[in-house]
Amino acid sequence: MKTPLEAPPEQVKAETGVKEPARQEAPAPVIDTSKMSKGQREALELAEASRDPLDERGSFASNLFIGKFGFDRIFPYPTQSDEDRAKGEPFLNRLREYLEANVDADEIDRTGEIPQKNIDDLFAMGAFAVKIPTQYGGLGLSQVNYGRAAQLLGSWDANLTALVSAHQSIGVPQPLLLFGTEEQKAKYLPRVARKEISAFALTEWNAGSDPANMSLRADLSEDGSEYVLNGEKLWCTNLIKAGALVVMARTAPKIVNGKERKQISAFIVDVNSPGLEIAYRCHFMGLRALYNGIVKFKDVRVPRENLIAKEGQGLKVALTTLNTGRLTIPAACVGLSKRLLEICTKWANERVQWGVPIGKHYAIAGKIAEMAGQVFAMEAITFLTSALVDRKAGDLRIETAMCKMWATEATWRIADEAMQVRGGRGYETAQSLEGRGEPGIPVERFLRDCRINMIFEGSSEIMRLFIAREALDPHLKIGGAIFNTQLPMAQRIKAMFGSGSFYSRWYPRQYTKADAGDLSKLHADLRPHIQYAARTSKKLARGLFHAMMRFGPKLEREQLLLSRFCGIATELFCISATCSFAQSKIDAGEPVDEILSLANYACRSAKLRIDHHFAGTSENADKRAYDLTQELMAGKHQHLQRGIV
Ligand SMILES: Cc1cc2nc3c(=O)[nH]c(=O)nc-3n(C[C@H](O)[C@H](O)[C@H](O)COP(=O)(O)OP(=O)(O)OC[C@H]3O[C@@H](n4cnc5c(N)ncnc54)[C@H](O)[C@@H]3O)c2cc1C
Repeated sequence: MKTPLEAPPEQVKAETGVKEPARQEAPAPVIDTSKMSKGQREALELAEASRDPLDERGSFASNLFIGKFGFDRIFPYPTQSDEDRAKGEPFLNRLREYLEANVDADEIDRTGEIPQKNIDDLFAMGAFAVKIPTQYGGLGLSQVNYGRAAQLLGSWDANLTALVSAHQSIGVPQPLLLFGTEEQKAKYLPRVARKEISAFALTEWNAGSDPANMSLRADLSEDGSEYVLNGEKLWCTNLIKAGALVVMARTAPKIVNGKERKQISAFIVDVNSPGLEIAYRCHFMGLRALYNGIVKFKDVRVPRENLIAKEGQGLKVALTTLNTGRLTIPAACVGLSKRLLEICTKWANERVQWGVPIGKHYAIAGKIAEMAGQVFAMEAITFLTSALVDRKAGDLRIETAMCKMWATEATWRIADEAMQVRGGRGYETAQSLEGRGEPGIPVERFLRDCRINMIFEGSSEIMRLFIAREALDPHLKIGGAIFNTQLPMAQRIKAMFGSGSFYSRWYPRQYTKADAGDLSKLHADLRPHIQYAARTSKKLARGLFHAMMRFGPKLEREQLLLSRFCGIATELFCISATCSFAQSKIDAGEPVDEILSLANYACRSAKLRIDHHFAGTSENADKRAYDLTQELMAGKHQHLQRGIV
């Protein structure tokens, strides 16, 4: 039986420079789902059906997985043009001054409320409409300027960042800009630009990382003029203050290849619609002023014209929205990490223990250097990707996922280490510090607030699955049919001949000398890092191919192994972006020695992590870990539960 996991057998041509196997007449399933549970299969099928095929040229990061190192796609670094900078500067200056003078982030954290005046003032200055075109009442600024705004917000107050970001990056503006009709844009964009907060409602009790499990229903009315929504959504950020929501709901299933396929559709829903109830406000470890809650729908009637894109395209709307929307969190992480670095550097100088400032002790110096290197790399990848988005430089979903995953994890480590550097003062609240006469430095708040970044808008685990899926794509298109036990043998043999000729050319090339391209405009100290990245990209491609040969269709289950390949590619992306960024700083007249010491440290540190990932691909405890967890889940090892309350 065929699965609906079809992808056109598009050819991976330009980038590999290898003649491709002949196009197959019938589309071949690319992932073997035959050994999967029903729920797992449905989740995958829905994700696959909502996934746009990768751009044939790939992107800088996606090509790393096939041993193709196209440094010229990210070098010279796409620095912000003077014109774009000048357009954003007045707003960014106003925002910076406003935050410093008028937003008391600790008070917001303590009370769990953002003063309405702050929200009104931010609306008035256009902070909720940074990318909305001016014709709809927005500022019409670029992704880079939006990222710079998120960086400012992230360095000051995570609650405001979440309010502004959930509204613009995933709430009504972004999906409407991407998929909305002219009528929808004309009706809703002016509202959400200047007066109404919006939100994005996808998650439910049984549908977190797995939207296929969604149960909220949208049934077409008899006359076809409306949808009737019934169900509940959980953890909807901004809900408590929102005027309009983007809601994902199940619509009537479709029959594909004789089988029923679930359909998810996206709607704009006015919060004041009869039958819609804000049922509960949720509270969290951090983000104490998040206006997040549960929303119930009881026969809520939504006009048909509020459907975003076509029926059944809801998940595609969500995934595409997030492809760019996902860049806001890393930009905010850059801001927060810079702030934490500033706090730590100052404290490392001021605090004297054992006769010297603590920054003179190797243990503390190591932490601060690591922070600095990661801040630089984080800024490099985030603003590189943002600039490429502005330049519409192809398919950047892997880059944005890497930015989200890497920046949120690095920021968590930085916040954790910042707490260690500040010692007991790091653990003490800002209010308590001030109460006894010390500066109220809120490391404790920053740590609480940034933890969620690794969970929402795609958890780190889901980002790795997403990156791995795209990384395997060229191989699945060419060689996927060979491994697929669901296909008739004749089709598998045919695929073997076709892809065999591809691999007989591609594979030996992964052992030839790597070409990093023309590096004459790169500082001599940075060149070895780029040559290393080019070489290591081939090693990565070989490793991934060997893993495919070894595990075949079961590779999809080897999440820990795949996560190491994702980690290697992400670190290579960081090294490459860091060097490109460093050169742009040198060219702009920044002190060469300072830039080089930072970039060299960031690259060396990334190489150590890459070594660690590679070591884990050949020697690891993955299978044992899996088996042990299954034992625990089956109720074994009861002794581990003894002696506790
Ligand atoms: C503060 C906050 C704000 C939020 N805001 C919004 C919002 O505005 N709109 C909205 O729709 N949702 C929102 N969410 C929901 C958020 O996006 C989800 O929490 C997130 O998608 C993860 O879902 P889950 O919590 O149900 O975890 P689960 O999906 O139950 O996952 C639990 C753990 O298992 C891992 N996991 C799950 N599946 C796999 C897999 N296949 N392979 C490997 N690991 C896996 C996850 O990564 C996670 O670590 C918010 C949540 C919070 C806490």
